[in-house]
Amino acid sequence: MRFKARPSPELREVVFHKEMLEGLFCMAKENHPREIILLLRGRVSNASAYVDELVLPLGTTFGLGFSGFLPHNLPLDPSIIGTLHSHPSGSLKPSIQDLHNVFGLVMVILAYPYNLSSTSAYDKSGKPLRVRITE
Ligand SMILES: [Zn+2]
Repeated sequence: MRFKARPSPELREVVFHKEMLEGLFCMAKENHPREIILLLRGRVSNASAYVDELVLPLGTTFGLGFSGFLPHNLPLDPSIIGTLHSHPSGSLKPSIQDLHNVFGLVMVILAYPYNLSSTSAYDKSGKPLRVRITE
């Protein structure tokens, strides 16, 4: 019998509640042209990452062209599935810096003008994921 490695989930999509995502669009608009960054708390089931809660980490700075948090302020919390930040520039693609600072399993980008078609998501290797809305 061959040893079977535990399957690592190949993520395909990030799932948000409609109201939560709309709230995030509002937050991104209110802070524009500054970036926002938040942690996503939720659960992974099969190929889907479900976002249940948003966490604003201590030490968060919302800056012009840069948003970040101090790594030692990050909660050691396995329910944190990833991060979300905004791109006031309108770019849907992760920057080189983004790809070097992936925290968790998913990275969601809300790009200007902050609606569903300007929202993108990536896994930790930079592969694009679908963004799905539930009512
Ligand atoms: Zn970015």
